[in-house]
Amino acid sequence: MPELPEVETARRLIADEALHRRIADVDDSDTFVCRPHSPGELRAALTGRMLTAARRRGKAMWCETSDNGPDLGIHLGMGGRIVVTSPDGQVAWGGEPFRRDAQPPKAEWDRFTLSFADGGSLVLFDKRRLGRVRLNPGIDALGPDAAEVTPAEFRDLITRGSVAVKARLLDQSRIAGVGNLLADEILWQARVSPAARTNSLRRQDTDRLYRALESALRSAIARGGVHTGDVIAARRPGGTCPRCGAEMRHGTVGGRSTWWCSREQEGTRPPRSV
Ligand SMILES: [Zn+2]
Repeated sequence: MPELPEVETARRLIADEALHRRIADVDDSDTFVCRPHSPGELRAALTGRMLTAARRRGKAMWCETSDNGPDLGIHLGMGGRIVVTSPDGQVAWGGEPFRRDAQPPKAEWDRFTLSFADGGSLVLFDKRRLGRVRLNPGIDALGPDAAEVTPAEFRDLITRGSVAVKARLLDQSRIAGVGNLLADEILWQARVSPAARTNSLRRQDTDRLYRALESALRSAIARGGVHTGDVIAARRPGGTCPRCGAEMRHGTVGGRSTWWCSREQEGTRPPRSV
């Protein structure tokens, strides 16, 4: 599932390859992906304009359009990708990386298409059809972007109240962009128990979490996705901690499947199903 790093690769692709190209036509016929817009509404709003900037907060992405046009929101859902074709037919992908066992792409998985006057296109490719395209998407409910949050903001947002720290990391209204894999990676890097209560975190814990957030994001963006995190391959039965060799433990924390090192991430209050 796309987390901040995957959405950032999609945003960069749009910023690098799809801006300032005249939109000649729009296929907005998928009424589920384009809800609540009716067919033709996005087409009428976007045809003749150009994308002028690609923005992101957390997992939400949107493009500004020319001539004071509406913002075009594109959410990648659970496995969506952006495909940009250049005027000479070169195809570039951004978003969720391909798995080795993936089926070959099918044309019907193109859920939304901007056709450019230069002959190229921008497509939301989404096999699972859980992505979404909409005009002027609301982002006010999202907290600050995880890649831009300051240490002081982070400390304040992460320690308020008393919930499992993993649940807090996943709360998009506090800090936007961290999903399940990234949260496990950050907690493992910082050696913090996923079930530790937010109000029990000491200053050194929040400082380590902040540094882990920064380094996990930087590394995942550079390596092509959250699946490249150092502990991700060990999130399986029989997995061992890549740092200390201890057995990895599994449970449900914050409503999500969670893995942690049995030696380094057991606090005074051991993780349990919550
Ligand atoms: Zn360990």
